[in-house]
Amino acid sequence: MADRYFVQNPIEGQQARLAGAEAHHLAHVMRAKPGHEVVLFDGSGAEFTARVQRVCRSEIDLVVISRDQIDRELSVPLSLGVALPKGDRQRWLVEKAVELGVARLVPLETERSSDRQSPAVLERLRRAVIEASKQCGRNRLMEIDSPRKLPDFLAAAPREAVRLLAHPGAKDCQGVLDGFFNGKQLPRQIVLAIGPEGGFTQAELDLALASGWQSVGFGPRILRVETAALALVATVTARMQHE
Ligand code: SAH
Repeated sequence: MADRYFVQNPIEGQQARLAGAEAHHLAHVMRAKPGHEVVLFDGSGAEFTARVQRVCRSEIDLVVISRDQIDRELSVPLSLGVALPKGDRQRWLVEKAVELGVARLVPLETERSSDRQSPAVLERLRRAVIEASKQCGRNRLMEIDSPRKLPDFLAAAPREAVRLLAHPGAKDCQGVLDGFFNGKQLPRQIVLAIGPEGGFTQAELDLALASGWQSVGFGPRILRVETAALALVATVTARMQHE
């Protein structure tokens, strides 16, 4: 998946333009000259083969040669609500969530979460989404929503979705998934929730269970937030068909 570049504006017609960090990388790291071919994506689900036409100081003009609708998404859309850990660990979580195919990540505000995510932090994480998408080949960007309070997030998940909340000591995740992935139809949507370092409170757990969520466990060890998030996403996505 080398040489993929993200174009901020939707690509229409035969022309495309790279700016900012993407143009800098292509011009100064790859030392691209007119004629150099690259793959572009704009987050719409398509990818484009394009040829460099003109290299300027901070912009690169390209001619679009072909447009291909190439879907590398999961067969069931997956939303992940997570009380984000701090610093590098949140960036790591975002990168891995993109690679595993999460469609939407919702930062959760819970009773025991520490600080709120600032808009600048969320912007940095959106940049990490683009970097991970370049690397893993996704042509749709994982959305990062504005932070939501846990009760709102729990209530907004459709009742027909598979709704799983990770909690130490809960019934083993595999056993719970057996009930949903039983060889018949795949679920239409999956929504997952991971708590903060301090865990969900009993009241939060009770609220989730009362509104039809199921709690799932990953054995007797306490996992860090990002480990639990990836364990849950990987366990669920392993039940989907990968084409
Ligand atoms: N301090 C809490 C643990 C918090 S770990 C306690 O001792 O209970 C952070 C989050 O990761 C949890 O809220 C839960 O969503 C998830 N998690 C961690 N370990 C888990 C496990 N063994 N099973 C299921 N979820 C787990």
